[in-house]
Amino acid sequence: LIRFENVIKRFGDNVVLRELDFNVEAGERVSLIGPSGSGKTTILRLLMTLESVDGGVIWVNGDPLSHMRRGERLVPASERHQRQVRRKIGMVFQQFNLFPNMSVRRNITEAPVHSLGISREEADQRAEELLEMVGLADKIDEHPTRLSGGQQQRVAIARALAMQPQILLLDEVTSALDPELVAGVLDVLREVARTTDITMLSVTHEMQFARDVSHRVLMFDEGQIVEEGPPEQIFNEPREERTRTFLHAVL
Ligand code: ATP
Repeated sequence: LIRFENVIKRFGDNVVLRELDFNVEAGERVSLIGPSGSGKTTILRLLMTLESVDGGVIWVNGDPLSHMRRGERLVPASERHQRQVRRKIGMVFQQFNLFPNMSVRRNITEAPVHSLGISREEADQRAEELLEMVGLADKIDEHPTRLSGGQQQRVAIARALAMQPQILLLDEVTSALDPELVAGVLDVLREVARTTDITMLSVTHEMQFARDVSHRVLMFDEGQIVEEGPPEQIFNEPREERTRTFLHAVL
């Protein structure tokens, strides 16, 4: 479903991704772990086309992200094409990024109504179901500013899912939260993992969460994958010294 092929990304002289190669299969849940600054967030931002690559190709559904098909040829992707690609990808950020002046309901229903063209009634019904799933059915008419950080983040998850994305990107979704609010958000994501077959790519510092939900863990350092494998192997029997030191520092 997703393929990074020799992807290079620089910010000035800082080479953030160095010929990075990896694949994510449809329905797979992959966690990206590794020290701060190793390029994990950049990977998600590239997938969202919030940044562009300096080398290599990112493929999504068999098409390069930066290009679109015109007959037999590939031409640079238009803004419209990129919007269409982005629509299949939901992202939840560290900072919840809800619209503060809209109710929870409107936060969740605006994009489906305007971008997917579904009716207000259907969007409302779906918002109710999603809020039920994240345990916030009673907050549908509140404003986000009246919710705790954990509740806001659960609304942000519901909002991302309302677009029926094929891929869900999670960028350290609990790191801005007070410690007592973390578990509620992770439980919601465990539930999403258990009840859907959505492809998940998550950057996380929550090792227990990575262990519980991932099919595969990628350990990053300095813009490269140091080691990858199923969570049991990475956490119980890391092969690389770099992984061992990292896990030792965070666990
Ligand atoms: P963290 O866990 O701290 O978020 P990370 O592994 O997600 O770390 P990235 O956020 O991808 O790391 O950043 C990798 C490097 O790229 C860092 O050195 C960062 O300073 C740099 N970087 C990221 N975004 C930009 C930008 N827009 N402009 C310049 N440098 C950037």
